[in-house]
This record gives sequence, C-alpha cells and structure tokens, in this order.
Amino acid sequence: MRCGFNTTVNSTPPSRLTINLDAIAANWRLLDARHPGQTAGVVKANAYGLGATYVAPKLFAAGCKHFFTAHLAEALTIRPLVGQAQVMVLHGVLPGEAEIFVQHDITPVLSSLPEVALWGAAAKRLGRRLPAFLQIDTGMSRLGLSFEEIERLFNNPDWLTGINIIYVMTHLMNAEIAEHPSNAAQYQRISQFQRQFQAQFPDMKLSLANSSGLFLAPQFASDLARPGAALYGINPTPGQANPLHPVVALHGKIIALRDIKPGTEVGYNGVWAAQRPSRIATVAVGYADGYFRSLTNRACGYFDGTPAPLVGRVSMDLTTFDVTEIANLNLGDSLELLGPHCTPDDLARAANTNGYEVLTALGARYERHYIGAVPAT
Ligand SMILES: *Cc1c(COP(=O)(O)O)cnc(C)c1O
Repeated sequence: MRCGFNTTVNSTPPSRLTINLDAIAANWRLLDARHPGQTAGVVKANAYGLGATYVAPKLFAAGCKHFFTAHLAEALTIRPLVGQAQVMVLHGVLPGEAEIFVQHDITPVLSSLPEVALWGAAAKRLGRRLPAFLQIDTGMSRLGLSFEEIERLFNNPDWLTGINIIYVMTHLMNAEIAEHPSNAAQYQRISQFQRQFQAQFPDMKLSLANSSGLFLAPQFASDLARPGAALYGINPTPGQANPLHPVVALHGKIIALRDIKPGTEVGYNGVWAAQRPSRIATVAVGYADGYFRSLTNRACGYFDGTPAPLVGRVSMDLTTFDVTEIANLNLGDSLELLGPHCTPDDLARAANTNGYEVLTALGARYERHYIGAVPAT
C-alpha cells in the first residue's frame, strides 16, 4: 500500500541511496580476521546513518556477537534483531533506566562513580549480580572514570558489590595517526588499571581498538575491538590505500537541464559564472539531504565515470553541475554523487570534514535501496 506524501501518482523516484549490506558484512569479517579476539559492531547513530535495523541483523548473521549503541533507545531498537548477542550502551545508565537495561538484557558502559552507584543499587534491589563495562578516561576527558575516581573505587571495593565488570574499556584519541605517542600512553594506562583490579576481577577483559586501532600494533586490538567507521567503508588508515569494501552509492536525480551563455551566473550569490557556453544539470539533492553547503564549487558528480564539476552554491534541495562535457544527458538521469568515483572520504575532504559526518548526515529523502538484506524472522 502506498501512503504519505510520496504517493503522488506517477511521481519520479527521488535520488537513490544504495547501501551494500554484503559489503558491510565482508568488512566486518575482514576486520575480525585481523586479530584473535572478538570484534563488535558499533551501530550508534542509526549505524552511522545507514540504517541500524538493516545493519545489525546483517552483522549478527555474519557472526558478530557484540553491538554498541550510544543511546538506550538505539539499543532497544536493535535488541530483538540480534538474538543472544550482547548489546552495550556507550552513554551508560541514567537514573530510572536500570530496570529497562535489565529487562531487555542490555549492558551499560559505566563511565562515572554515580553510574557505578546506580548500577550497584539496581543489583541490590533485584538481588542479582549485573554485568557492566567500565570505561576509563585515559586521555580524552570526555567519558570515563578519571584517575581520582579510580583511586577512590580501588579504596572502596564494596562500591562494586553486585557488579560484574566483564570488560574495562577506553577510547583512543589519535588511533588514525599510527605514530602518535598518545596511543602507547593510553595503552599503558589501561593496562595499569587492569593490573590494579586483577585481584577483584580476575576475568575482566580489555576493549580498546576502534576501526583505526585495529591497524595499530597487535596488542591494541585487545579482547574486543569496537569498529564502526571501517564497517561502513571509511578508510581507517588515512594516507594509505583503503583496505575495506565500499558500502554506499548516492545517485542524484537530474530534474532540469539548461544551456547558458558565457558570463551567466549560477545559483545564490552567483559564486560561479560560465566561462564558455555551458550545460547545467540541476540535481534534486541539497544541504537538507546532507550534501553539505561547504561543497559549493568543490565537488563533482559523475556520469559513466565522466566528472561534472559542482558549480555554484549548494542550496537546500538543489545542486547544480556543469555537464557540458557529457553528451546525451536526459531529464530523470542521475549523477553519481557518492560511489566508486567519489567515496565518502573524498566528499569529506572536499567539505573539510570526515567520512563519519558525511555518512551520518545522509538525508531522509532518498529512496534507500539495500543490497543483501537479511529476511526478517
Ligand atoms: C564511535 C565509537 C567507536 C567506533 O569508532 P570508529 O572510529 O567509528 O571505529 C568505538 N568506541 C567508542 C567509545 C565510540 O564512541
């Protein structure tokens, strides 16, 4: 049944975003094969914008048994789709939420003493030992127990009564810069913590690497790696060849074509003007779709591999491309805006951001086409 505002009879399908779930699964296997430990799937922010309800079951079918989300709501969304896999919430537990975690078998990442107290109180109330990850701040000053908090915890071991710390974790701040001294320093600090708490939690494991961390020295992979970006095709080793499979393609629909004379300005504020007789294609993608305004005059669309420079300002719903060099274009044809000729990392460079932001900004108006979706059970 068709319903909603997309139902106009004979409406042209909008621009199309293709998400290759088979490539995501292949990327997970490739990352998992890099080390002897376990490999989680980080599916926060709707699996970096690509659709957590598609990505999580696909990773689960590929063998992934650990998932990380940022929010509890995200964890609740994927929980029924990943069988007995362990689901962790990076943002941890807030007052009033503990019972929801327990009821849905979701594990919090505890990052402060108040959270430890909350989780301990829930364990006492429920009369059972509750699992948790414990996050240590080894350098980012963002989330995680500080050194002072760790000392207090060490001197008050009863604060952890009822809590089973299954993993201690920390997050690398410069993992994509292999030679950065902070990597070794952070490793040093987390190992020290693990030794300190060895007696209390002899089975406690270590979770350290994000995507780029899996490409550092072997010990960084740890017992449980937490890649996100690399699953989705972002290059974890900037400056070197990308070892991952590409995952997304975006094809923007041409809804107008016009021929303009030399000197004619294009778009808001006329920040581009034709130097020669030019053909301009207007594509139904704009900054409201996550095609950043900062790409103005700085990116290309492609047709059968031939580049068509983005000319003029990116507007909310429209972007203009110089297609003078491309013969035989028609209304309704599409330009490749993301794909083999322009990866999310390429577009990110042009927009002065990173591939993570390109993916998480991908808009809601595209027709989303999934390759290799796991049938719903
Ligand atoms: C987002 C996140 C990850 C995944 O990082 P990538 O660079 O996308 O691989 C891992 N751990 C934590 C704590 C995160 O917040």
